[in-house]
Amino acid sequence: MQEKYIRWGRQKNCMRELTAYGNARKAEIGADRVFDFSLGSPSAPVPKPVWEAMREAMKRPDVHEKTPPAGLSALREAVAENLSGRYGLDLTAELVQIVTGAAGGLAVCANALLKPGDEAIVLAPYFTEYRVFIEGAGGTVVEVPPLADMQPDLKALRAAISEKTRLVLVNTPNNPSGAILSKKSLTGIANALRKAGERYGRPIYLLSDEPYRELCYDRKAIPAPMAAYENTILCYSFSKSLSLPGERIGYLTVHPQLTDREAVQRALLDAAVSLGYCAAPSLMQHAIVPCVGMTADITRYRKNRALLYGMLTELGFDCVRPQGAFYLFVKSPLPDAKAFSEAAKRYELLLVPSDDFGLPGYLRLAYCVPEETIRRSEAAFRALAEEFGRRKD
Ligand code: PLP
Repeated sequence: MQEKYIRWGRQKNCMRELTAYGNARKAEIGADRVFDFSLGSPSAPVPKPVWEAMREAMKRPDVHEKTPPAGLSALREAVAENLSGRYGLDLTAELVQIVTGAAGGLAVCANALLKPGDEAIVLAPYFTEYRVFIEGAGGTVVEVPPLADMQPDLKALRAAISEKTRLVLVNTPNNPSGAILSKKSLTGIANALRKAGERYGRPIYLLSDEPYRELCYDRKAIPAPMAAYENTILCYSFSKSLSLPGERIGYLTVHPQLTDREAVQRALLDAAVSLGYCAAPSLMQHAIVPCVGMTADITRYRKNRALLYGMLTELGFDCVRPQGAFYLFVKSPLPDAKAFSEAAKRYELLLVPSDDFGLPGYLRLAYCVPEETIRRSEAAFRALAEEFGRRKD
């Protein structure tokens, strides 16, 4: 048996444990008495045209046939057209590979690009599964801490790059901090990677994980990593933007000027096949073709963001102002965020300690919950704030 799988199986995962605890607690005292902020599962309704497109797709005689491994050409073309318009790049269907959600896309990239001993840099805080994808492919995770505003520490990034670095993984908007990588950060990352690439005589790829791309609140669009750096592979998913996390559908797109592009694309395709993905689900591929540029109505996330951020700030908690995704990142009043998460449970508040995200000392609150949950949780947060002396007044 593979040692790594046994090790992962034994490892604790705070997020899953808290969700399981929450479900048991809801069964015990009633769902309306538990304030569960543990799970980042989209709650915005699926746009009606997506359902209509699914019904239409069901009428196709070929709907249950496997598509080519890279995906339906019609979908790859629709994605390429959408992205070209966004980024001002000449992106063609050949640069697009349809994958089974962002998780599938990231696993494919890690397996295609890393060989045992290679290092992959991740910018903390980061999605817990990155470690699994990278180590699963035989790579080693190198963490780079953020600055106080959750932008990357570029000096630390430059210092972390070594001759073993094969790729840098970024996530914007970020799970768990809600931060969006600024243009300045992206330029800094691009310059650092170009310089290191010249130094080592081979490219360092930027893998940009963007499942929350459409969930940004203070501006129309996020600054695009692909527009900043030519050696970028974009990993996108419809899980959050169309509220379809169970349907497993997304795409990879490589920059037209990516170094060794053809070899990389062949590796991406073969990695997908060797991981057993064959092709992404056919029904969803057909259904997404007319829906590529759509986004679910994110008004509820925008409202919840303002409500929760305002409420907790008012109560004296130190919060990172979320710019995107649907997470609020709160500084733990105790040095040990796990201990604080345990204390919050006494008030039926389920807050995920950030240790598993590679940056201890914070709590992640998923605010994709009903607005009612936030409103009703105020008394519990107030009591928690009082216990920990956070009230400002
Ligand atoms: N990347 C990040 C940052 C995520 O938060 C998630 C899911 O929550 C994923 C990737 C995986 O998304 P998907 O459902 O598309 O596999």
